[in-house]
Amino acid sequence: MQDMKFKKVLIANRGEIAVRIIRACREYGLGCVTVYSTADRTALHAEISDESVCIGPPNTADSYLNKNALIEACKMTGATAIHPGFGFLSESAEFANMCRENGITFIGPSPESIAMLGDKARAKETMKNAGVPVIPGSDGAVSTLEEAKEIAEKIGYPLLIKASAGGGGRGIRRVDKPEQFEEQWSLARDEAKKFFADDTVYLEKLIIGPHHVEIQIIADMQGNVVALGERDCSMQRRNQKVLEESPSPLMTQELRERMQEAAVKAAKACGYYNVGTIEFLVDNDKNFYFMEMNTRIQVEHPVTEMVTGIDLVQSQLRVAQGLPLNFKQEDVIIRGHAIECRINAENPDFDFRPSPGTIKALHIPGGPGVRIDSAVYQGYTISPYYDSMIAKLIVHAPTREEAIKKMRWALSEFIVEGIETNIDFQLKLIKTNAFETGEYDNSFLVSWLNKQKKLK
Ligand code: ADP
Ligand code: ADP
Ligand code: MG
Repeated sequence: MQDMKFKKVLIANRGEIAVRIIRACREYGLGCVTVYSTADRTALHAEISDESVCIGPPNTADSYLNKNALIEACKMTGATAIHPGFGFLSESAEFANMCRENGITFIGPSPESIAMLGDKARAKETMKNAGVPVIPGSDGAVSTLEEAKEIAEKIGYPLLIKASAGGGGRGIRRVDKPEQFEEQWSLARDEAKKFFADDTVYLEKLIIGPHHVEIQIIADMQGNVVALGERDCSMQRRNQKVLEESPSPLMTQELRERMQEAAVKAAKACGYYNVGTIEFLVDNDKNFYFMEMNTRIQVEHPVTEMVTGIDLVQSQLRVAQGLPLNFKQEDVIIRGHAIECRINAENPDFDFRPSPGTIKALHIPGGPGVRIDSAVYQGYTISPYYDSMIAKLIVHAPTREEAIKKMRWALSEFIVEGIETNIDFQLKLIKTNAFETGEYDNSFLVSWLNKQKKLK
């Protein structure tokens, strides 16, 4: 306790991830401070932390994204570290740098790593040079239309135009034939400018029937990097993840070893520390390609925690304290199978539109191998200002088959009244033949939804 670099952590986030971090801090023996907007006065993260500071009005630009207010809140409460969670400022190199300048430990990688990896075009170039297989495409960013058209001819169609600063499934445009290129080019750049204030784009070949398989790593400041297996996140809608599992149904021990090796190489290529996720696409011939690296804790981190028994958020705290990892690669054993369903306040019957409102009744499933990460409670009012994810339901069982059964019953038991949720939708999804057999790729969910629409 005496020689800790920091003893009090400010959590610059809200919702279930803020609550997750409060728990980790307490178990680690650290004090915790949360921040809240005026819309979040009764939010669980604000209610249960040791201290909580109001940092502004509901809109995120003036509260959860308000860098100065967050630094001030640290000074006010004596917190000397900030955990950014995911989303918000978690991938802001500028914010990580502000923390550094103010003598606050940013619980994440260095601002230099964030800047390099957050620029997806540059990250791809770095990985390619380090010998990590990347998706065929432009070498880095492309700036003029003429140049882009030339490169597009070389790559071949269909292809994607992707925002270099993109994230959250935004800023990706598909081009099927040369005639469409010019139009999509300007749309992609406008969109990138609008969402990310940066119109830098790059080109990438569209991988057909791909699987999204990502490797979780953790690295300390002493240069140790350990890979913690994979997560399959191929169940996606609008390039956003809906359900995740570990191990991936397509994984073999040999493929895992090769992907883990590439992921460790990727982390070492940029002097990385903190938890990190290397996202790959795996094609039908089981070739894998680096897509991007996420430099933060990920929404779906619990499935990895369940199969490895390693607490990723506590590991983040440990690494940020400057301590070496307390396990080695050979200590990591993948046990059983874990599945996570993202539970959102949304209405699947109306194109998944958000469904804010007050939770009138709530029953949460339980039992062995059932975990809920959530920040809602009975009587809580979900505000329309923030992300619609209200809970993550995670199950763990010895085999995939048993995990699916457990998820079925856990979803059936889950009751949320007063708002619409996607619980029944998730139940239907895990009952599909494609999920049961594990034979689904990134395009499955969208085509399944389209089929259902036609039947109506
Ligand atoms: P994960 O792989 O952890 O699921 P996501 O892409 O779903 O990552 O992003 C995690 C969270 O961060 C989501 O709530 C998403 O809306 C938010 N997010 C991701 N990227 C951005 C961004 N560039 N700007 C704003 N929010 C983002
Ligand atoms: P973000 O930063 O928004 O997470 P990613 O580059 O990780 O963007 O891509 C998000 C999703 O888009 C992937 O999980 C995958 O489903 C799809 N995708 C991205 N690039 C390709 C590609 N080259 N071919 C096929 N699908 C892709
Ligand atoms: Mg991604």
